[in-house]
Amino acid sequence: MNNLGIYIHIPFCEKKCNYCDFYSFSAGASLKQRYVLAILREIGRWGDYLNRPADSLYLGGGTPSVLTTDNLCSIYTAVQKYFCTPKSAAIEVNPGDRVDFAALPFNRISVGVQSFNDNELTALGRRHKSKQAKQTLLAAKKHIKDVSADLMLGIPYQTLNSLKENLKILTDLGVTHISAYMLKREKGTPFYQSDLPFADERQTADLYLFVCDFLKSFGFERYEISNFAKKGFYSVHNLKYWTGEDYLGLGPAAHSKLSNRRFYYEKDIEGYINAPVEITEGEAGDEDEKIMLLLRTNIGYDFSGNKKLQPFLKRLQDEGLTTTVGTRTVLTDRGALLSNEIITQILIKK
Ligand code: SF4
Repeated sequence: MNNLGIYIHIPFCEKKCNYCDFYSFSAGASLKQRYVLAILREIGRWGDYLNRPADSLYLGGGTPSVLTTDNLCSIYTAVQKYFCTPKSAAIEVNPGDRVDFAALPFNRISVGVQSFNDNELTALGRRHKSKQAKQTLLAAKKHIKDVSADLMLGIPYQTLNSLKENLKILTDLGVTHISAYMLKREKGTPFYQSDLPFADERQTADLYLFVCDFLKSFGFERYEISNFAKKGFYSVHNLKYWTGEDYLGLGPAAHSKLSNRRFYYEKDIEGYINAPVEITEGEAGDEDEKIMLLLRTNIGYDFSGNKKLQPFLKRLQDEGLTTTVGTRTVLTDRGALLSNEIITQILIKK
């Protein structure tokens, strides 16, 4: 059995960003404390029940960095006690939050930079400024080697030049990993109805391909559609999602996969604190799912045994949308842009 990954959702944010549809909200100290206690209880309960080691821990959100250092350390210590010391322990940090990096037991920091351009940050509704993002990255780098930054593509007012400037700052600061996500206007968010000048599909595609080229020239590998890393700095935890390994998600809205079972917890913090209810999501691990997940990565998928699919695969390759690594089909940068369409067609035709 593979090692387990543990995800812990911290659903607190001081301010909601204009594009965000994650389960997160602002909360006072007492709710935060009750939630941390519930998480510690659940770590113990699941640890006793599963009785297997975990090699990765990921604290995401929301904003884990709004919790106190003591709270963060107690969560880490509980995971250590019930699942052993994780090889990779990552935490998401919001720029500008007071984080004592020297005291944190985590060995990977992921900073929600999004942009170093203050106009773009204001459009996104982020509560930090560019200067704070730089300070947070510098402070993290002082203590931790593996520092990742999130960037967003397709922000109102974003240009190729502002993006280039962002990438240059990140590479100069020596980050080891960059996640570059394309902005989506999700229903129910202020951006959904907003008349800000959003980038269209073609502009966003240009931004994405620019990121791929720029980061490649700085020694980053695109190991998943939106994720780029220096050699040896792939996200241990996120790779579990794409390669079909097991993960346990704790907290409201957190998803789990344990062997062939998928389930999640409702978006209800009080319900989670009082008595968490698992909601089954169906079976995991069939071939379609493996194709969908692995084609997102640079591992790709081996279709060599499927004769029916060969003419379509050849067409994709002739059009420069896929390439082969040994017997595996892997999406090129241009293919990654069209991943949904390509994967859908493969699943229909296979
Ligand atoms: S900080 Fe992250 S989780 Fe919180 S509102 Fe902004 S995008 Fe959403």
